[in-house]
Amino acid sequence: MYNPKSLKAEEFISDEEIRETLDYAEKNKNNKELIRAILEKAKERKGLPHREASVLLACEDPEIIAEMYDLAEQIKKDFYGNRIVMFAPLYLSNYCVNGCVYCPYHAKNKHIARKKLTQEEIVKEVTALQDMGHKRLAIEAGEDPINNPIEYILECIHTIYSIKHKNGAIRRVNVNIAATTVENYRKLKEAGIGTYILFQETYHKESYEKLHPTGPKHNYAYHTEAMDRAMEGGIDDVGLGVLFGLELYKYEFAGLLMHAEHLEAVHGVGPHTISVPRIKRADDIDPSTFDNGIDDDTFAKICALIRICVPYTGMIISTRESKAVREKVIRLGVSQISGASRTSVGGYCEPEAEDDNSAQFDVSDNRTLDEVVHWLMDMKYIPSFCTACYREGRTGDRFMSLCKSGQIQNCCHPNALMTLKEYLMDYASPDTKRVGEALIQSELQNIPKEKVREICADHLKKIEEGIRDFRF
Ligand code: SAM
Repeated sequence: MYNPKSLKAEEFISDEEIRETLDYAEKNKNNKELIRAILEKAKERKGLPHREASVLLACEDPEIIAEMYDLAEQIKKDFYGNRIVMFAPLYLSNYCVNGCVYCPYHAKNKHIARKKLTQEEIVKEVTALQDMGHKRLAIEAGEDPINNPIEYILECIHTIYSIKHKNGAIRRVNVNIAATTVENYRKLKEAGIGTYILFQETYHKESYEKLHPTGPKHNYAYHTEAMDRAMEGGIDDVGLGVLFGLELYKYEFAGLLMHAEHLEAVHGVGPHTISVPRIKRADDIDPSTFDNGIDDDTFAKICALIRICVPYTGMIISTRESKAVREKVIRLGVSQISGASRTSVGGYCEPEAEDDNSAQFDVSDNRTLDEVVHWLMDMKYIPSFCTACYREGRTGDRFMSLCKSGQIQNCCHPNALMTLKEYLMDYASPDTKRVGEALIQSELQNIPKEKVREICADHLKKIEEGIRDFRF
């Protein structure tokens, strides 16, 4: 039954294969010889298949877990350096016809405020986001063919790209909307989107159907096969994710890796990103009613293992997680984080009144973007507002080959420094600027090629003179 090359959800995410994998992992969780061999293989930095990855996840030996963390940290350094890409979500509409039991946007929720941004409101929201310094957005919407048809989403994307306020611009729009048709994915591609993100929520079919009792999202196969349709529609960069807390995390982890293996087997390129959301409190949602919540240590272990098993895939962590948790997992392999997020529709212009709640979930990190940028730099990370790859056509396998060629340090590193410089010039507080300027000066020396270093130094000077948008 199990066939990673199949285009049928139940064959590339085979329940039987996952169960056998979990069985194998459980039986071998104390098999130190095997675990050592798997870790040695992981050190080749070519990733690990789901079976071997699951053995590592099952292993509870603290010494070996510490080794996994060290390896994850090293792989993160080798592939992503110390750069952390910044983004913000933008909620367009919370109208939704689905019945997802974990999401307050579910159709039966009559006491949540339903909102949909007009194009004028989008201008205001995006202006507020640009004024913070954001260059990269992830747009979010509920599924509602009447209120949020694809034409609405396309119009919003067009509006977002057209807003130029002071030195601000949104240079990459990622899209997180419900599974759709090849034709609609083609339209999204033509509208110039970056990554198409769709969380699987859970790979467990039976649970999936219970957790999505009504609406189009109920269809497990249609949802699970969405990334294949997106790729058929020409979208190279797709983002996977599981909503941790819905099902047993070991099952989800194996499913997630099988999904990545499937994309690689069929399309020759794995997922561009993986997100690791956990269920949060929201309007009529109480996370404690879900039995499969994971603690912070398990969460960290999952993040470290994703880093080890799919080294070329970016990992995203949102403001669902607190500063302390983010601090821990950034070290273990996260490459992208959101900052100053609002999960309500229209939340960037005006904070919502208590009785006017349109938010999707409570955030745990309420800091401003300036505070997040400062905090990252204090830890010696480079906050990057870079969007160059996508704009230079380095998507899909072209991005992956950049990663694999080891040229990231001559490309992403200077791009990160130049976009950070723009941020410091245009938006940072005096103290953040001071810390950032010192960081840029020392990090400039870490560009290996002399010529690139010189060009970067020259561009940094030009940014001071007011010129913007340099990139390698
Ligand atoms: N409606 C779209 C869909 O069907 O995929 C996607 C957009 S939704 C705004 C983004 C994601 O938020 C969902 O895929 C889900 O994983 C997550 N989410 C929903 N409710 C949540 C909650 N209570 N806590 C944390 N994340 C939640």
